[in-house]
Amino acid sequence: MHCPACSHKFGFLRSLLIMNPFRIKCPSCGTILTMGRFGAIFLTVGFSFGVALAEVGLYMKDRHSWTTSDIVLWFLVAFPTVIGAYEWLGWRYAKLQEEHEREGSRRKTE
Ligand SMILES: [Zn+2]
Repeated sequence: MHCPACSHKFGFLRSLLIMNPFRIKCPSCGTILTMGRFGAIFLTVGFSFGVALAEVGLYMKDRHSWTTSDIVLWFLVAFPTVIGAYEWLGWRYAKLQEEHEREGSRRKTE
């Protein structure tokens, strides 16, 4: 992942701190960047993964009598592993674009 305006590279750890993939400020040149459609798909799929992992934990608790500590272990191991790998893929393949002002979102300075 890098800034298209100044080629500033975003490290993986820094990418984990991105809360809003549609509005990322480049720390080097200040350009507002976005992941665009990729970001939207990435968030949706990532959210589904999170829900699916939680579902598996709850299912195992109901059907296979997992104890609470089994569930905790599941969340401690599965979440960082799956989400971590997923985040890495996103970081590896995401392409940042300069955000183009959307109509009406900001008035041009005259
Ligand atoms: Zn930049």
